[in-house]
Amino acid sequence: MSFDLSGRLAERRAAHLYRQRPLLESPQSVRVKVDGQSFLAFCSNDYLGLADHPEVAEAMVEGVRRWGVGGGASHLVLGHSGAHHALEEALAELTGRPRALLMSSGYMANMGAITALVGKGDTVLQDRLNHASLLDAGLLSGARFSRYLHNDPQSLSQRLEKAEGNTLVVTDGVFSMDGDLARLPELCAEARRHGAWVMVDDAHGFGCLGATGGGIVQQQGLSLEQVPVLVGTLGKAFGTAGAFIAGSEELIETLIQFARSYIYTTSQPPAVAWATLTSLRLAREESWRREHLARLIERFRAGAAQLGLQLMDSPTPIQPILVGDSARALRLSEGLRQRGILVTAIRPPTVPQGTARLRVTLSAAHAETDVDRLLEALQQTLAELPEFQS
Ligand code: PMP
Repeated sequence: MSFDLSGRLAERRAAHLYRQRPLLESPQSVRVKVDGQSFLAFCSNDYLGLADHPEVAEAMVEGVRRWGVGGGASHLVLGHSGAHHALEEALAELTGRPRALLMSSGYMANMGAITALVGKGDTVLQDRLNHASLLDAGLLSGARFSRYLHNDPQSLSQRLEKAEGNTLVVTDGVFSMDGDLARLPELCAEARRHGAWVMVDDAHGFGCLGATGGGIVQQQGLSLEQVPVLVGTLGKAFGTAGAFIAGSEELIETLIQFARSYIYTTSQPPAVAWATLTSLRLAREESWRREHLARLIERFRAGAAQLGLQLMDSPTPIQPILVGDSARALRLSEGLRQRGILVTAIRPPTVPQGTARLRVTLSAAHAETDVDRLLEALQQTLAELPEFQS
């Protein structure tokens, strides 16, 4: 008897699915040093360019001076500082919800919310392309778990007919690997018709969508009744770390009492919360960041279409180039790397079989000339790879 780890690893390598961690040797930014070399990067989730912003960094330093380094305890013991509390109040304001609860990560926010709200005898229905943390939480909850076709209210409706107990419909707001938007008005209407609740994980929409960066619910004017459970993360557009769940007073109190990934973990370092207050202000006030991003998205899509690349139906900074085969995706990524450009090849199991892609992500820190450099490098790489010649 043994755990055949080397066999498992060899199998993964043979299928071109082996993952490696690039070693970042500079601050997170669009110009990075990785494994000793300088690159122009199109693969972070730092959509607004705040991860390396001097004012945010200064706020973090001030936070350390004021609140120390560690959270020191869980929130319910003695880890809930004034910094955490002030951030929760700012997040409630940003989301237009009565209250928000700060969590240590998006993965834990999703785990905590879903397992606190549904259990044995209940039902959880999820878009089949939801983020792994949502799917994992659904399975862990013990509720009946079913996945509906991507962004398909009809498919959701069929499953709602058979649902039992309290029913939670869960969807990404912006789908993390495709960049498309959830059809929330229709999905919410279906859920409402069946007395189900909707939970939206808008990890990739906050900061980017809506007039002041309030995400998909702000952009589409969705009320608390339509989306009672709203999740956002702070490590993407807001450039720091952590996550939050926003909703009614009762929802937040319920989570404080029952969400295990909230109760049984140390609070995030208060200085991170302190820095995030500055990110939220910059994201709200500096709307030029969203406007600039919109121009970059348009420029990239027009250029990529001219090169005959297959894009997805995405109005967001997530602009995947669909390739299909994992080995081809890796070769394309490698070709760009040789030209000083980093774009990650995303392969199964992160995305469905046969849909490997280059996940290009744009940031307000990119210049228009950076997008032009990417397009030029794509053109040169494609010309070198025989499998891309039609
Ligand atoms: N939800 C979605 C849709 C995500 O893309 C991610 C991160 N990739 C998470 C949740 C997890 O967030 P965090 O990184 O804060 O754990």
